Amino acid sequence: MYCYKCGAHCKDRATYCRKCNGPLLSTQGEGDAKHVTPEALANYHRALKEQRLTDLSPLFPESDLSHGEKLSPELLHSFHQKCLDKAEESYQREVANTEAFYAPKLEKTKGREHEQEEESYRGALAQAKQNRDLSMAALGKEEKAHRAIDTIHRAALEADAALPALDDSTNAHSFAQYLHKRADNSKDRAEAGGCFLVLGLILLIVGLLFFFLSFKTSPDYTITTKILKFDSFEFVVFCAGVGIGGAMLIAGITMVSTAVKTIRAMRNALNYFGVYYRL
Ligand SMILES: [Zn+2]
Repeated sequence: MYCYKCGAHCKDRATYCRKCNGPLLSTQGEGDAKHVTPEALANYHRALKEQRLTDLSPLFPESDLSHGEKLSPELLHSFHQKCLDKAEESYQREVANTEAFYAPKLEKTKGREHEQEEESYRGALAQAKQNRDLSMAALGKEEKAHRAIDTIHRAALEADAALPALDDSTNAHSFAQYLHKRADNSKDRAEAGGCFLVLGLILLIVGLLFFFLSFKTSPDYTITTKILKFDSFEFVVFCAGVGIGGAMLIAGITMVSTAVKTIRAMRNALNYFGVYYRL
């Protein structure tokens, strides 16, 4: 399971986070370390194993989505559309705020000063437009919205956290923070995987070099070509290098690829989450 506070991956049976010492499970986010009952722990593991749906109704307040219900394509589509609408709305709000901010300045000023104000007004509008375009591009295809819901749901399930209500900005911020921490922790894992990958590669190359050193001149003078000596020290180094180096290389590649996948998923989820909850 994952800690809601710091996003650390903890043992499935743990009741306290190994990294921040915070309480796990249903006590998460409540401040004091309450005792986790065995029933709560068993319940949590059952839910995780069955991939039981957590309550996703905050994402679909217009429907009477009951607990554990599958999402219909219409609902998924509506979520994407809602996020696009909210991104557009926030752009319109930004434009209105910019206009309200510059209107009195433009009215008061004259000549050179007026031109300067007008220039920064146009700059602010262009900036807002650029932000809107970037946001729209990130929200992109409906496919991405489906994946975001999936990630948000899984992340909530893995930390035994409930999705915040739409108007609960404090808890929405904590949830976004949790998604951020998950992405950050994966970044650390990707770096560790990168080290494994490089070390594995070096060992593999050294091992291969020793393969060529394992060829020795035969004591039999009739054989003029060098023969591979299986009992030589060099051959042992070759086996060890290829074995250990290969294992490290595979471990490194696996670590990096899973970490990169998690980072991408979390960032995509954060994009939608942020727009949806207007963070
Ligand atoms: Zn923690």
